[in-house]
Amino acid sequence: MRITIFGTGYVGLVTGTCLAEVGNDVICVDVDAAKVARLNDGEIPIFEPGLDELVRDNRAAGRLHFTTAAEPAIAHGQMVFIAVGTPPDEDGSADLSHVLTVARSIGQHITRYTVVVNKSTVPVGTADRVRAAISAELLIRGLDVPFDVVSNPEFLKEGDAVKDCLRPDRIILGADSARAIEAIKALYAPFNRNHERLVLMDVRSAELTKYAANAMLATKISFMNEMANIAEHVGADIELVRIGIGSDPRIGYSFIYPGAGYGGSCFPKDVQALERTARAHGYNARVLSAVEAVNVDQKDKLFVLIERHFGGDLAGKTIALWGLAFKPNTDDMREAPSRRLLEQLWAAGAKVRAYDPEARHEAARLYGEHAGLLLCEHPHDALEHADALVIVTEWKEFWSPDFERIKATLKSPVIFDGRNIYEPRTVEAAGIAYYGIGRGRSL
Ligand code: NAD
Repeated sequence: MRITIFGTGYVGLVTGTCLAEVGNDVICVDVDAAKVARLNDGEIPIFEPGLDELVRDNRAAGRLHFTTAAEPAIAHGQMVFIAVGTPPDEDGSADLSHVLTVARSIGQHITRYTVVVNKSTVPVGTADRVRAAISAELLIRGLDVPFDVVSNPEFLKEGDAVKDCLRPDRIILGADSARAIEAIKALYAPFNRNHERLVLMDVRSAELTKYAANAMLATKISFMNEMANIAEHVGADIELVRIGIGSDPRIGYSFIYPGAGYGGSCFPKDVQALERTARAHGYNARVLSAVEAVNVDQKDKLFVLIERHFGGDLAGKTIALWGLAFKPNTDDMREAPSRRLLEQLWAAGAKVRAYDPEARHEAARLYGEHAGLLLCEHPHDALEHADALVIVTEWKEFWSPDFERIKATLKSPVIFDGRNIYEPRTVEAAGIAYYGIGRGRSL
């Protein structure tokens, strides 16, 4: 099939590439000319395992193209995907300006039946707005071109995006047109072979499904962070509690890790946007407000522990920070807990030596000029001249460090483990003070 994708970010680039991989002819459009130029030079602007190779192969096969030109791209696509950003507005609701710009552009250029597929995470009712924007442009052109708008929210996880896209757990499709449903079913057939993954529903339910999924996951994290804070107060170890409750199959072990707060481009904005949507419809979503409030506080947690350890005086201290990305296997630092921590440490007069396997270039883009930040090429370089080590992202390479070397290098050996990846007694046995999240101990 001939496919057009608007947006070459984490979702658009991965989706376009995976659709090309199964034989479709894909054009990806982005307004960011520099990004398109890099892609056309064979450079991948994001770190996503397996993506480089797939983009290279599909470009070489002539099935994957990148452009800034909307008009020919819309003429190309039998299906046009919207995969542009929906960042938070000033009040936390989703900013739909990019989505609606694309919708208007589709209305200005379509010439024959087109299925418009919305992949961006958008509030309930957005498909109606996209439809209205396209119709308004067609009216201006005096044309009556048939089209359908369907909702097909994306569930890929950064760091696993290629795998998630090629082997999705489920394909949510919100649609009310038989013609569009058949087209989407045919498109996804290669990803849906060994068992049925396509869940068909009405458009509004599909739009809400995406927010409900992210809100549920964010709730699990904030719930565990709340339990961790209680554990600390009462002298219990949240890691034992986690294993204890996860053994109940109704609860399960996944996504119940306490930590330094959730970040990324999705959970914070989606929880807020859903709460704002509910409010706009006259409903006060109390659980969502609490999930967000707990997370905001949790992002202060590491700083509070560090400040307390150093008697409230961080001026002139140097802190080694391992992990900048909001989670492992990505270079994405949007809403990352590391960012709040960096800014708090600098405000308190501390300097930071930071290491991250993939997010250093992103940190340099965000903070390259900051005198309080030294980006290191190796985890051990970050420890040099540092007073303390803080684990912010649980990259695999941090899990079994040389504690002897850490002790010998740090000025006053102490680890703040924002992801509970170490066993406190192991660290303490190496002569290093240890702080985790919710690791009060009564034994
Ligand atoms: P992103 O910021 O990485 O990429 C968005 C891209 O859209 C950018 O390259 C931007 O230049 C481009 N763009 C903006 N306006 C445009 C226009 N008018 N025409 C063409 N391109 C335009 O965003 P993302 O992380 O890929 O997320 C996209 C959407 O998917 C969001 O709604 C997000 O909530 C949702 N989503 C993201 C993830 C994720 O893990 N990142 C997962 C599921 C869903």
